[in-house]
Amino acid sequence: MNSIVSVTRDGDVAIILLHNPPVNALSHRLREPLDAALKAARDDPAVKAIVLACAGRTFVAGADITEFGKPQKAPSLHDLIATLETITTKPTVAAIHGTALGGGLELALGCHFRVADKGARLGLPEVKLGILPGAGGTVRLPRILGPEKAVAMIVSGTPIGALEAEEAGLVDALVDDLVPDAVAFAREADETNRALVAVRDRNTRIEAAQADMSGFEKAVTEATKKTRGLEAPLACAQAVCNAVTMPFDDALGAARRTFERLVAGDQSKAQRHLFFAEREAARVEGVGKEVKPREIRKAGIIGAGTMGGGIAMSFVNGGIPVTILEMSKEALDRGLGMIDRNYGISVSRGSLSPEAHKKRMALFTPTTNYDDLADADIIIEAVFEEMAVKKEVFSKLDAIAKPGAILASNTSYLNINEIAAITKRPGDVLGMHFFSPANVMKLLEIVRGDKTAPDVLATALATAKKIGKVPVVVGVCNGFVGNRMLGARNDESENLLLEGASPEGVDKVFTDFGWPMGPFAMWDLAGMDIGWRNRKAHGKTAVIGDALCETGRYGQKTGAGVYLYEKGSRTPTPDPEVAKLIEEKAREAGIERRTISAEEITERTLYPMINEGARILEEKIAARPSDIDIVWINGYGFPIGKGGPMFWADLTGLRKIAERLEYWHGKTGKQVFAPAPLLKKLAAEGKGFSSLGASRT
Ligand code: NAD
Repeated sequence: MNSIVSVTRDGDVAIILLHNPPVNALSHRLREPLDAALKAARDDPAVKAIVLACAGRTFVAGADITEFGKPQKAPSLHDLIATLETITTKPTVAAIHGTALGGGLELALGCHFRVADKGARLGLPEVKLGILPGAGGTVRLPRILGPEKAVAMIVSGTPIGALEAEEAGLVDALVDDLVPDAVAFAREADETNRALVAVRDRNTRIEAAQADMSGFEKAVTEATKKTRGLEAPLACAQAVCNAVTMPFDDALGAARRTFERLVAGDQSKAQRHLFFAEREAARVEGVGKEVKPREIRKAGIIGAGTMGGGIAMSFVNGGIPVTILEMSKEALDRGLGMIDRNYGISVSRGSLSPEAHKKRMALFTPTTNYDDLADADIIIEAVFEEMAVKKEVFSKLDAIAKPGAILASNTSYLNINEIAAITKRPGDVLGMHFFSPANVMKLLEIVRGDKTAPDVLATALATAKKIGKVPVVVGVCNGFVGNRMLGARNDESENLLLEGASPEGVDKVFTDFGWPMGPFAMWDLAGMDIGWRNRKAHGKTAVIGDALCETGRYGQKTGAGVYLYEKGSRTPTPDPEVAKLIEEKAREAGIERRTISAEEITERTLYPMINEGARILEEKIAARPSDIDIVWINGYGFPIGKGGPMFWADLTGLRKIAERLEYWHGKTGKQVFAPAPLLKKLAAEGKGFSSLGASRT
């Protein structure tokens, strides 16, 4: 036996120990010796029972994703499970700690019994990679949990804890001393002649569902309510359905074929790309493992407005107490009232207990006095977006913050270096750009200033994780990565209207693509007045946006913007008045309106975004294309199944995108269409953004 699989004996119980760090993934180098070990134990008359356990921090946490998309070298996971199921006279026991995920749980389902330590988690998260559990998970799990619970678990991909697993029958015993207790369990099963029924042969729950499908059908409807245009959740539900309606081997065969189809498809490639991209984004130049983050025990937030309140909630949700500062008691009361109401909504939806609500509120300390922030380990300002105000706040913070405290700005556009320069500690200053609503949105752009210290970045990255955010480190420029690209997208939106498109027509192209909403619905959601004031301050104009704002149409908050909103509703209704306004403005500008195709809308909105992404890479504002994808997926609702703008650009072909940008540049003379040198170069070489490095799908 090699060191990846070792076999020891405790009396007449064979212990097969897997050791394939870091997560005991089911790579071929593990499968081959494991299959041999199982067969040897099966055929050894001196062995009466078999325990399958793992060394290190976890049981098998899944397949080896790098093998996806290639034919699996024998023995496959199917072969392994088939071998396990040839063991019919000796109890087989999976001893689970850490996480038994995906192929790991499928392997455990090939055993007669599963024992687990109390901290273990079990699940089939394949759906998150755009696939389904292809090695029997969809047919075996329903035989234990019943198809209702199984469909919920497989379609969501969310693992369950050991306690819940034991209650549901997925785990046969919870133990304290895993391997010795698993050995004792196996020995007892042998000595008491416990019935050894393979999971595949347990049909009671399947037959019950067959007799009355109504509960299962309801569970399927519930589980597939929000599939966001993704194929995998529906395929998972169908596979569990097959487990109920088809003989075992037919349902297993169908699941395998669906797995093969999904794994070769663009959606799964996109989702696997994002899986690696998120890990990759945590690797930051100059911030190696030797750089230790500073300790964050207390946070300070300046400003209890839209963003300050949401950021404060994120910290409190992550268990970090927050002192929140405002200019007046009224503003504080307003801010904390909003936070209290937000938690109240979670309580009424059942996602937060009334006790937890109380506990969270107790973690806020309101103040109007800067001295109360003197013991904060990190202070984030979310005051008005004006350089003068930001500078004033940072001067005050510099005077009172303790040495080593991190000073962060939530600015959307402003120059972090300029803000840092006002302090005597620019190394401690950086941008932490949250997205609205900040307690919900996952993205955190961490803006690295010229002087930001490596351990300050490391701390921001660690803190992001602690408060449930997905961090991406970006450089200083106007709008950083996300808003800068959004600007490029917005540039043409109004022109499309003037030239003949309707807001709902443009938005439909976006929702058909898979976005939750189009650019105009987003204007209304965010409120158009912010941009309008900003334009006025900088002497800029936007024909339609300005005209709407001048009549008090700011968006959802005023009941009307680009669209109309019925009282209390967030559903946009096209407004004939707006259609008239657009026609009028087009006439004034001497534009003859025409029919605009969906293709043109895509080319004039998404291609400039990708072009701007290329510039961002040239300027090293983002370290890698996949970082840009993470920004757009987690901050702006780019459809997951398309993998982010840069991944999608590669699928579309950079040559095509460069050609069309050239075309529109020639036609309009606009800078947003002038292909970035990097884009041109890659297109000419027949390459994609992925050739610049990063994710490995
Ligand atoms: P907001 O107007 O809702 O809140 C700002 C709050 O800061 C107000 O409550 C105000 O009383 C307070 N404030 C102003 N000056 C202050 C000072 N000197 N001391 C203490 N408190 C002060 O604004 P917002 O939307 O929360 O934006 C805040 C920051 O976040 C801005 O820099 C903005 O660009 C950025 N941001 C906003 C969004 C968004 O979608 N709203 C998204 C990301 C980032």
